[in-house]
This record gives sequence, C-alpha cells and structure tokens, in this order.
Amino acid sequence: MSDYKIIDHSFDIVVVGGGGSGLRSALAMKEAGFEVACVTKIFPTRSHTIAAQGGIGAALGNMEEDKWQWHMYDTVKGSDWLGDQDAIEFMCRKAPEAVYELEHYGVPFTRNSEGKIYQRPFGGHTKNFGEGIVQRACAAADLTGHAILHALYQQCLKHKVHFFVEYFALDLIMNEEGDCVGVMALCMEDGTLHRFHSKNVVLATGGGGRCYFSSTLAHTCTGDGYGLADRAGVPLQDMEFVQFHPTGLYGPGCLITEACRGEGGYFTNSLGEKFMEKYAPTVKDLASRDVCSRALTIEIREGRGVGKNKDHIHLHLEHLDGKMLHEKLPGIMETAKIFANVDLTQEPCPVIPTAHYNMGGIPTNRFGQVVRPKGNDKEAVVPGLMAVGETACVSIHGANRLGSNSLLDLVVFGKATGEKAKELYLDQPKKSLPKNSEASSIARLDALRNSKGKSTVAEVRLAMQKIMQADASVFREKSTLTSGIEKLDKVAKSIDTISLQDNSLIWNYGLIEALELDNLMTTARSIIYSALNREESRGAHSREDFPERDDAKWLTHSLAYGASKNEPVKLDVRPVHTWTLTDEVQYIEPKKRVY
Ligand SMILES: Cc1cc2nc3c(=O)[nH]c(=O)nc-3n(C[C@H](O)[C@H](O)[C@H](O)COP(=O)(O)OP(=O)(O)OC[C@H]3O[C@@H](n4cnc5c(N)ncnc54)[C@H](O)[C@@H]3O)c2cc1C
Repeated sequence: MSDYKIIDHSFDIVVVGGGGSGLRSALAMKEAGFEVACVTKIFPTRSHTIAAQGGIGAALGNMEEDKWQWHMYDTVKGSDWLGDQDAIEFMCRKAPEAVYELEHYGVPFTRNSEGKIYQRPFGGHTKNFGEGIVQRACAAADLTGHAILHALYQQCLKHKVHFFVEYFALDLIMNEEGDCVGVMALCMEDGTLHRFHSKNVVLATGGGGRCYFSSTLAHTCTGDGYGLADRAGVPLQDMEFVQFHPTGLYGPGCLITEACRGEGGYFTNSLGEKFMEKYAPTVKDLASRDVCSRALTIEIREGRGVGKNKDHIHLHLEHLDGKMLHEKLPGIMETAKIFANVDLTQEPCPVIPTAHYNMGGIPTNRFGQVVRPKGNDKEAVVPGLMAVGETACVSIHGANRLGSNSLLDLVVFGKATGEKAKELYLDQPKKSLPKNSEASSIARLDALRNSKGKSTVAEVRLAMQKIMQADASVFREKSTLTSGIEKLDKVAKSIDTISLQDNSLIWNYGLIEALELDNLMTTARSIIYSALNREESRGAHSREDFPERDDAKWLTHSLAYGASKNEPVKLDVRPVHTWTLTDEVQYIEPKKRVY
C-alpha cells in the first residue's frame, strides 16, 4: 500500500455535496448550533440544482384556490402509490413555509399581478383531488434552481459553513458497530488525502442519471452517494424507477422544461396530431412525465415521429405570445437557439424522452436518517448517517416524481436533517475513529493508479451508457433486461483493467473520472437488476411483459445490495408505509392511475 500523507479534520457535521439539498442541510445544521463542513467536488453554485428551471411546488394558492391536501393527493397518485404517505404528508404540509423561507433568504421569485409569488401549472398537479390543472409551481422565471442555489450559498457563507471545494468524497468511515463516524476525501487540486471525523455525515451528492447515454443531467451527476452507501453496506432503494423527461432537446439532451407546456405548449406527431388527447384525455399535454414519455415513445415506435428519421416529436410554443416567452422562459429560448438553432417564437422544438431523475436512492426516514430494514418489517437507523436530495429515497416520489417536487424535497428534508441532528447529536461527543480508517480508500486509489490495463474510462463508460439506454429505458422486458445484465456485468469487470494514462490531455482528470465511473457502475447495476426483479408496471417502470400494476405482490420498496461488487446484486424488499402522519389525514387507498 502506498504511503499517503493524511490530513485530519474534525467537525460536528460533514455534509457531502454543495447542491440545493446539501446547502439547505448545512444551513439547518448551522442554525442548530453545529460546526459544519461542506465537502463538494465542484464549486457549490455549479451544482446541478443550478439547472432546475420550472419551479418549486407548494400550495400557496396565489393564482387560484389550492390546498396542501390536494398537493398530497397528487404526489401520492403521481408516485403510483409507492411513495410513503407519512413522508408525503410531511412534505406537502411544510411546502408553503419552505418557500416563504426561501423568499426571505433572498430568492427573487417572479411576481403575479398582485405582487405575490407567481405560480405556474406543472404536470400532474391538480385541484380538488384530480379534477383539473392547478397553478402550484412557484417560479423565478425559468431559472428557479439558479435563484435558490445562489440564495442558499449566500446564507451558508453568512452563517460560516466551512467549504472544502473540489474535494472528492471517496468512502464513508464506518466503525465496528456499523455507525458512520466520518468520511475520506481526496483534494483534487493537490492529490492529498483528507480524513473528516464527525458526529454525523449527510450525503447530498445528487443523482446518477449519467449512467444513461442520453440524459438531461450534468456530467457531474455520477451517483457518487450510491457508491459511497453501497460500499458501506447500505442498500439502495427503488433504483429501477428512473424518470425519463418527455422533453429532452433532440440531440444534446438538454432539458426543455415542462413549464413550456404549463404556459400553453403542446406536442404533435408527423401527422400534425395533438396526440396527448389519446393518452390523457383530461389533462392532455400536462399529464405526468411517465405518461407523456410513454406516449412520445409509442408515437415514434409506430412511425409517427417527426424529422428525417422519424425519431423525435415536435413541441409547439410558436402560437404563444413572443413577449411572454421571452419574459417567462428566457433560458429555454436561449437553449433552443444555441443547441438546436431553433427560434421558439417561429418554429417547433424537436424533443425526445431523456433520462432525467432517480426516484430511488439511499433509503431514509422523513428526518433524513438513513435506514436499513431489520426483520419483521422494522427499520433500523444507521447512526451518524443521513442522506438528502436526489441521492436519497425518503420515499416521496415513489415510482414517479411530479415536476417541482424535487426542489421542494431538497429544502424540506434538508431542513429536517438539522432539526433531527440537533435532537440527537448536539450534546453528544464524537465516536472514535476505527483503526485503519483510510485503508479501503487507499487500496482503491492504488488499484486505479497502478492499473496496467488497456481500456480507457471513456470506452468503459460509453459501453455502460449504451447498454442502459438500450436495455433499461422507457420500456423494459425480461429478455432485454437479462441480456443487458449479462453485458453490463462484463463491462463492469473491465473497470479493473482501465488505464489512467492518456498523454494527449493537457489536464488528466483520469483518476476522478475513474472514481466516478465506479459509482456510475454501481448506479447502473442496481437499476438494471432491480428492474428485472420487479415484475409489474408502475410509474416510470414500464414492463411490456407485465403491463399491469400488481399491488398484491409489488406494493413494496425494492432494495439492492452489493452493486459495487463484482458479483450478482442481491435483492430484497421493504414494506411501503401505509399510514399517514396525523389522524386528521386518511391514508389514500391505491386506485387506478388515470389522468
Ligand atoms: C435540467 C433539469 C431541470 C430540473 N428542473 C426542476 C424543476 O424545475 N423543479 C424541480 O423540483 N426539480 C427540477 N429538477 C430536479 C432537481 O433539479 C434535482 O433533482 C436537484 O436539484 C438535485 O439537487 P441535489 O442537491 O440533490 O444535487 P445536486 O444539485 O446535483 O448537487 C450535488 C452535489 O454533490 C456534490 N458531489 C457529488 N459527488 C460528490 C463527491 N464524490 N464528493 C464530493 N461532492 C460530491 C457535487 O459537487 C454537488 O455539489 C431538474 C433537473 C434537471 C436535470
């Protein structure tokens, strides 16, 4: 083993990730009275939250009547009843308070004619328990994530959160009892190793959508939290549920926000038909994302796609007022012009369903504490470990996330981590570090640095992305999933033979990219194994060989263990919470999900 110099740090709390969820958690931890480090591989305001466009969901009722109970109903229905209703109730109740808090932190929300926060319609958000669309997504033009991320970063600076920028978290440090007592990280600037000793670690590392070939996510969304958790023996929950956004820009995959349809946009096929009327007669183009993505995929598969190869669909905005488009969707106008050379005031936008969001992740309760199942339907908390944001699975999004509910998830549960940690850890000493706490990280670094293999990170990553795109995408079935697993397992083994030497590069990011690839592979393997195991169709998981939802057998959360190892992923299940938080709210019984 190489002789590395280890630099030690001691904090009450270490938050890994400087996106919306990490910053909201760090701020809540500071407000609770802790010394907080935020370890982040990219500068906080470059985190992927910056890309969130359309809005944050909350039943403020600024545009028309709205109630948090309707928001809860829509979220449960959107989740295809896989979401845990206690957590959903908690989030929807807290949503208005969370948005007003953001406003007070300095988020410059767009205003309606009365000067109140502007709210726009989003898919699946309805009034009176499914009767018609409601305007619920609170928006700062189409730059809502940008506005939130900057406001939170400024608040963290004001509250003196200690930032470790461009530090890559390698492994959690777990003691013999299975408690988390810190994290190992690599300083990307000088290659030094850093050991963070803490009372509690919060994983806030975002999603892993980059295991697919076409993705709306930033190249930094590499599922690092999933890798960290899996290597520490924590299961990954509901990983088969990957949201495909119906409107990725054809070609580059950048997101064209759902707010375009909220503002009056609609789809057509090559026959000029507004086909969503067939698939969702009530809410049409504002059906939830899984419904729209399947509809677009069917239109393309049945030969009604547009373009030379009939392989995409048109989204129309050109009938809308150009001034309104420039005011309310400026980022989208720019994206379409730069990446597809399309002027949206004059011509339709070419779109295609694209990997967008991981509903699954590290299982937590509604306080952000990581849980693992423990016999007889009980859950055990992993002491010292929390997870929040897209890397976590609380589970509020269940089998399909409603647009605008992720930004909400970040801030509601980010805040909850601080409140819970205050109760648990404020007066507690740190638990001791185990001996050789750095050993496994050093072994991984050594293996990569000394590898004499022939393949490159880019080759292995591309092979993985192509398999996931072809075999674990919008529609799935046993034969393609099975052959996908065979191919992916082979590709996963080739990680051991990659070479980091590429002298053609001015800057060699090989080591970091290899570490990210390792985490992406854990993400991909947990998704595809879980997808084969779940023999039903629910939300975003659409099995052509099992087209119906099967509540009798599958109203359960999936758990995947050991996806980071070179052996078959082990699968298990954990019950869905069939209770609410308070007696005043009734459990919403599963029924057929139609829009
Ligand atoms: C294009 C697009 C538009 C969207 N629009 C909306 C919207 O309008 N409304 C909505 O509700 N949701 C939206 N979403 C979803 C939402 O933006 C994301 O789910 C959310 O922002 C994720 O936030 P996060 O804090 O979990 O992760 P991120 O913002 O991705 O942050 C992850 C952080 O983790 C750090 N990190 C990762 N790995 C490591 C590591 N190994 N070591 C150290 N640090 C690490 C990174 O540096 C980063 O700071 C959108 C998503 C996309 C892709």
